[in-house]
Amino acid sequence: MRSLGGHAHQLAIHNTTQTGASISYEKGCVACCRMVIPAAPPDAFALLSVVEALPSPKKNDRLLERFQAAQKTLHEAGLEDGLRRLSFSEDHDTEEELEPLNRAYYALRIPCPFLEDEMCSIYEQRTSACRELFVTSPAGLS
Ligand code: SF4
Repeated sequence: MRSLGGHAHQLAIHNTTQTGASISYEKGCVACCRMVIPAAPPDAFALLSVVEALPSPKKNDRLLERFQAAQKTLHEAGLEDGLRRLSFSEDHDTEEELEPLNRAYYALRIPCPFLEDEMCSIYEQRTSACRELFVTSPAGLS
């Protein structure tokens, strides 16, 4: 799945650079890391393996704290139930419902719990959706 995503990603980069735009991939480019990032079951299980393999309990605690902080913010903003419902929905025609949730989520500027010092701490194991996204604006503009 990652291999397929990688090929799609390279194709998208090729097509974008053909238009004259350049891709900004630098430290500090976390433009996508405060959005809703969908994770299909294979991604979710892969992330679970990553978390379980974390080297130290301290690192694990910090990650858990970031997840709890994100969940608290979502709960206080009233978005938790809607996102949870959509996550488990078998109705794939949810685009209309997802759009306002996406916007409200992004407005909260919740950093992905895997973000550490504005860097992805699991870059090599990041989800397929993370691999598909790229930006053409200067790094640091997020
Ligand atoms: S997993 Fe990494 S690349 Fe993906 S949103 Fe989180 S910090 Fe960003």
